[in-house]
Amino acid sequence: MAKVFKQGKSQEEINQNDMQVSAIVSQTIKKIEDEGDSAVRELSRKFDNWSPENFRLSNQQIIEIVNSVPKQTIEDIKFAQNNVKRFAEEQRKSMLDIEVETLPGVILGHKNIPVGSVGCYIPGGRYPMVASAHMSVLTAKVAGVNRVIACTPPIGGEIPSATVAAMHLAGADEIYILGGIQAMAAMAVGTETIEPVDMLVGPGNAYVAEAKRQLYGRVGIDLFAGPTETLVVADETADAEMIATDILGQGEHGPTSPGALITTSEKLAQETVKEIERQLEKLPTADVARVSWEDYGKIIIVENEQEALIEADKLAFEHVEILTENPDYFLENMNNYGCLFLGPETNVAYGDKVIGTNHTLPTKGAARYTGGLWVGKFLKTCTYQKVTEEASAHIGEYAARLCQLENFSGHAEQALLRVRRYGKVTAK
Ligand code: NAD
Repeated sequence: MAKVFKQGKSQEEINQNDMQVSAIVSQTIKKIEDEGDSAVRELSRKFDNWSPENFRLSNQQIIEIVNSVPKQTIEDIKFAQNNVKRFAEEQRKSMLDIEVETLPGVILGHKNIPVGSVGCYIPGGRYPMVASAHMSVLTAKVAGVNRVIACTPPIGGEIPSATVAAMHLAGADEIYILGGIQAMAAMAVGTETIEPVDMLVGPGNAYVAEAKRQLYGRVGIDLFAGPTETLVVADETADAEMIATDILGQGEHGPTSPGALITTSEKLAQETVKEIERQLEKLPTADVARVSWEDYGKIIIVENEQEALIEADKLAFEHVEILTENPDYFLENMNNYGCLFLGPETNVAYGDKVIGTNHTLPTKGAARYTGGLWVGKFLKTCTYQKVTEEASAHIGEYAARLCQLENFSGHAEQALLRVRRYGKVTAK
């Protein structure tokens, strides 16, 4: 039986916090709908102390910003973008258009058509999340999206130059220095100066993720990608130093970022708790990581790897590191996760920043019903059909009866017209 060894905040407390965020988000979206640019400016001033003449960067500004970024940084960004691009291009190839003859004379098919315009949110309240530019903008471009606009907040009143460089190198068509709910709502609803998009993508804090969720319907969204979550599944072959490092390495994202350990070894659980305390003494971002560990950290002790799998699937976390003797057991059997990191040689930071899998991943249990961002999210799989005269007369008879079964006389008439025109009338 699985046993909880350490538990953070209760679910009721978490739910209460979510409800407060949800209320703030809906009021803010309404304000932007009603007042447009003036509300965007007021909110940007309030939350980010940011009110430039134009939120959108001009081409001249972009060139100057990119030129101000150190050469090594540009090379590093290009290295990461090449990796993201290569993997995304391979994934694109897996999205095949199909056309099949399912019955004689009945041709059915689908085409993968890119969404027309996309708004990418590149987070930056606490840290300049340069990598999110590759994950959203570049992936949208590989999918073939025509207009890709991107927003990122200022950090401490400054434009985050490396993030802007990454947005530009990834192929963003318009770049705005604008953050939070106001960025999401402005891109989705449109304002006097921002033309609305068809779809919003990208990760963000609780406000950003909730704004995207509430705007769904009016625009498409990729998935619910809020504060980051990391689960380590470990047996006695793992070491506490690595587990602690990998949990804290993600806990520093924000004070509401859950880190969890599921282990078959109570000794390892005890060592990990001590090791986390030891590492927190030295970690420069300990102020945030300590809160996330204390409020959201969790350890579950299980009897064996089968039980570890059940508990891990229940948590359905965004990132799951497997530090066990046989990591492939989880690859073969686990169902609910954003990305799996198999074995001690890899880790979440590789996935977050450089290796090529997308880092925009489902949180808060969304991994039960979706994977992370990828080219397929930017493609609409649209179906079509073509039918010969003979096949039309044949299908029409079934269609007419099935329409009448549902009392749809108009539908039935559509079918019967074809039956009369193209075949022998037998349907009533
Ligand atoms: P952010 O850009 O998401 O949010 C900053 C913005 O939040 C600010 O511009 C401000 O306008 C707004 N804001 C701040 N406080 C507010 C308040 N009280 N009311 C209304 N608006 C407010 O940057 P961040 O805060 O650093 O968060 C980034 C988040 O992205 C982290 O939680 C991180 O874990 C998450 N993330 C998730 C994934 C994923 O795939 N799930 C990937 C990367 C990052």
